Amino acid sequence: MEKCFVCGKEGKLTEGRCKECYLKESFHFSIPGRIKVPYCKSCNSYYTNRWKTLDDKLSFIDEILKNNVSSSKEINFVPEFSKDVNDIQAIVDFLDEGNIYKIKIHIRPFYDDPLFDMEVSSEILLSGEQCQRCSRFYGGYYEAILQIRSDEKKIELEKIEYIMKIVDELSDKLISKDRMAFISRIEELKEGIDVYMGSLSAARKIGNDLIKKFNGSIGESHKLMGLDKDSGKKIYRTTVTVRLKNMAQRYAYYKNHLYILGIAGDNFKLTSLEGGNILSIKSKEFERELKKENIRVIERDQLETIDVSVTEVTPERYQMMKLSGDYETFYILRNEVRLKKELKVGDNLKGAIIDNRIVIMEEESII
Ligand SMILES: [Zn+2]
Ligand SMILES: [Zn+2]
Repeated sequence: MEKCFVCGKEGKLTEGRCKECYLKESFHFSIPGRIKVPYCKSCNSYYTNRWKTLDDKLSFIDEILKNNVSSSKEINFVPEFSKDVNDIQAIVDFLDEGNIYKIKIHIRPFYDDPLFDMEVSSEILLSGEQCQRCSRFYGGYYEAILQIRSDEKKIELEKIEYIMKIVDELSDKLISKDRMAFISRIEELKEGIDVYMGSLSAARKIGNDLIKKFNGSIGESHKLMGLDKDSGKKIYRTTVTVRLKNMAQRYAYYKNHLYILGIAGDNFKLTSLEGGNILSIKSKEFERELKKENIRVIERDQLETIDVSVTEVTPERYQMMKLSGDYETFYILRNEVRLKKELKVGDNLKGAIIDNRIVIMEEESII
């Protein structure tokens, strides 16, 4: 049997010492009686090395304790003691009293012997402060204005709602990484929407995303606002302007059908110019089909149209004549005409010329 080199007692030794001597000489543990953590009530965040949301109380307490415990040996915080872990273990109990978490730490220095367990208490005080983001947010701070405009004079109401839904969702998503990605104010103007944002990079990201969805152009202008009192640096405010193409003014050619392109919620709405039926395509899928060139988008002024007249009807096909240019006649199979009504000789129609093909359109759908 070995003997403790400090007191001479025989028994199982740790680093040459009996348990009492080991605890006295080698194991030190301390934690402040009260730990103050800056906490912003407005957004439920706390500050350690940066502001973070207080989502999960357990992991919050765990983080704060780990930052504040000082110990000569590594301590393993565990949900319950285990005899299989050869570590110094500790269990944390807490009582949530609003702004104060009362903490009890139960430490087991010898995993196989509860006789030497210790208990220490502390409390974590959430000290009320407003984080920088909230103080700026509530002070109406903004770094950039995202101006959303349309190439039409006015943006339709339905589209405004959809655009704002996208802007809100993106800002929510960005805020987890960029705490300044908040919207401090929204102004609906005659000419469009102005979104005041806490972060320029967020305004740019949202602007670019809108362009991806709706097409259009993006630009920036800077305005000198003055000098920073402390640093003497010039302060600029940036306006990011997004000019959206009006999708409702465009056509889509998809699977040999011609449609008017519109937007409904998260989907693209394709209204047939031939039979009037409506397709709804998820915007992700629409983008995929566009890339694969299965869908072709045709600008309003790029659609070539022609007036035609029905000159002969047979069970299989129609004979038609162009009512301009060379007044040429041509044939078109009946199943390629998707109008709801039956055609008869003398009917005047409008056609669109796409890939040398004439697509016969419903008359009331002609804009
Ligand atoms: Zn001893
Ligand atoms: Zn806050």
